Amino acid sequence: MNLDELTRLCGKLGCRITPECSLSEYITFRFGGPCRALISVNSAKSAAELIKYMKDNSIRYGVLGRGSNIIASDEGFDGVILLFGSDFARIEINGNTIRCDAGALLASACVHAQQASLSGMENLFGIPGTVGGALYMNAGAYGSEIKDIVVSAQYIDSDCVIRTIDKEDMQLSYRHSIFSDSQSVITSVTMQLTEGNADEIKAAMNECMAKRSSKQPLEYPSAGSTFKRPEGSYASLLIDQCGLKGMTCGGAMVSEKHSGFVINKGYATCADVLELCSKVQDIVKEKTGYVLELEPVILK
Ligand SMILES: Cc1cc2nc3c(=O)[nH]c(=O)nc-3n(C[C@H](O)[C@H](O)[C@H](O)COP(=O)(O)OP(=O)(O)OC[C@H]3O[C@@H](n4cnc5c(N)ncnc54)[C@H](O)[C@@H]3O)c2cc1C
Repeated sequence: MNLDELTRLCGKLGCRITPECSLSEYITFRFGGPCRALISVNSAKSAAELIKYMKDNSIRYGVLGRGSNIIASDEGFDGVILLFGSDFARIEINGNTIRCDAGALLASACVHAQQASLSGMENLFGIPGTVGGALYMNAGAYGSEIKDIVVSAQYIDSDCVIRTIDKEDMQLSYRHSIFSDSQSVITSVTMQLTEGNADEIKAAMNECMAKRSSKQPLEYPSAGSTFKRPEGSYASLLIDQCGLKGMTCGGAMVSEKHSGFVINKGYATCADVLELCSKVQDIVKEKTGYVLELEPVILK
């Protein structure tokens, strides 16, 4: 990889580049080795040019939002990370429509909607990711999913062309979208909300946040729910039934507050987390017959 050339390209595009930085600073689980470089994307056009450069030069690249659904390898990522964060985070409201750059925080979008008396995002408040990451995962909580409000998105296709896709073509289902199956990168998301009462929306958002703080181990680093909900049951219920609350591997522990969360006690490595997850999966399968699938994406 020619870092000087990549740095020059970033300079031309106005994107910040940090060579050799630790992934642990960019993921909520707070572990992970280094990447060769991390670039803060600032527009769809810059992202398309950067991806084209990576492809033309056979450089591995990965996309990161807030890193709240990522398990990063201890060995790090031998390539470039494109960060969709605060440098690419505009939020625009037009009537009942809200359009967000992919790097905008979902929580900021919820606050903007509330301030404009727009309802529909209340239950998503507190999901700690970007709007792009939320669409990629079809994030959801308390009976709502981003699927319920999204109308279209802008993305970069595998030929590095910026295109628009409508909701009907996104194949949105439980923690899945067409983007999780393709090399496409989301650059903006447009959502349709309904008129509501700002005070009532705020109260609903506060209620969601209160539920999260009382039930989830937010005081520890994690990637949220560690396992997807298996059909017919709940991961946390099965883990509880198997008596695995508090089980540890190195610095990783099945939370005592919410057994669906594996937490980092402060010194967990990726190996600790994966070993613990694997033990939980084996025991749950043996004792209940349910197969638990990891929800976070492994970055390696
Ligand atoms: C405490 C806690 C609570 C959580 N609660 C919930 C919850 O209630 N519901 C829920 O659904 N999730 C929850 N999560 C998980 C996580 O917040 C969501 O999955 C979130 O949508 C991930 O967004 P992100 O920006 O952090 O994505 P990242 O974690 O950075 O990335 C996740 C995946 O999305 C891809 N990606 C990110 N941005 C883009 C983009 N612009 N284009 C293409 N691909 C992209 C990445 O490459 C990666 O594969 C929780 C996590 C934590 C830590």
